[in-house]
Amino acid sequence: MSATSKCPECDGDVAVGADAVKGEIVSCPDCGAELEVTAIGPVALALAPEAEEDWGE
Ligand SMILES: [Zn+2]
Repeated sequence: MSATSKCPECDGDVAVGADAVKGEIVSCPDCGAELEVTAIGPVALALAPEAEEDWGE
């Protein structure tokens, strides 16, 4: 079983695995955007930070 959430970029449906964890990165099948799982049950998605972004570590 998997949950579905909306892509914040294109509003398309994005399937998120039932075993997804907060912080997991999934790709939108419609626009290819990288999305971060920001909440579980219900699943919420946000655009993932750009790869070149400074993580401050
Ligand atoms: Zn999308």
